[in-house]
Amino acid sequence: MIWLVIVSLEEIILQVQGCKKCRLWQTSIHGVPGEGPADANVMFIGQNPGAEEDKTGRPFVGRAGKFLTKTLAEFGIKREEVYITNIVKHTSPENRKPYPDEVAICLPYLIQQISLIKPKIIVLLGASAKETPHIEGITYFEVIHPSAAMRFTKMREKFQTQIAEIAKQIQQ
Ligand code: SF4
Repeated sequence: MIWLVIVSLEEIILQVQGCKKCRLWQTSIHGVPGEGPADANVMFIGQNPGAEEDKTGRPFVGRAGKFLTKTLAEFGIKREEVYITNIVKHTSPENRKPYPDEVAICLPYLIQQISLIKPKIIVLLGASAKETPHIEGITYFEVIHPSAAMRFTKMREKFQTQIAEIAKQIQQ
């Protein structure tokens, strides 16, 4: 897995934008490296970009992303103060779940991002919880994916409770 030595987040952006290490670049428009402050205390990590993210090259900007941003704001968390990214940096055909080999090949980018940003808190969105490495010293939260929270009332209520808990932790 140690196939890249990256010294800055800017370099990761360039690497992702030109990456051809797995098959997913062939069916995507843009790589979606992630965005946010280099010294963010909190990182949000999803599984992989969707169609809107593929079009724009930005993470969580579709309907679910807007819902996430709105919910964060409701609990006093500014999107521009957190780092948002995905485990896999290119979208997949028909938005299918990334295959294990794609996750394994792409994961070093995320590991480097975490190493450089050194967040205190990592929030795992939906299925990303299973695949994100857990690093000592970081507090992890697993929350319902915003696309599910957006659609189902019960899940939305749970998601709001989870974000409220994270907001409380950030303030400590
Ligand atoms: S998904 Fe990851 S490993 Fe695959 S081409 Fe994109 S950046 Fe490279």
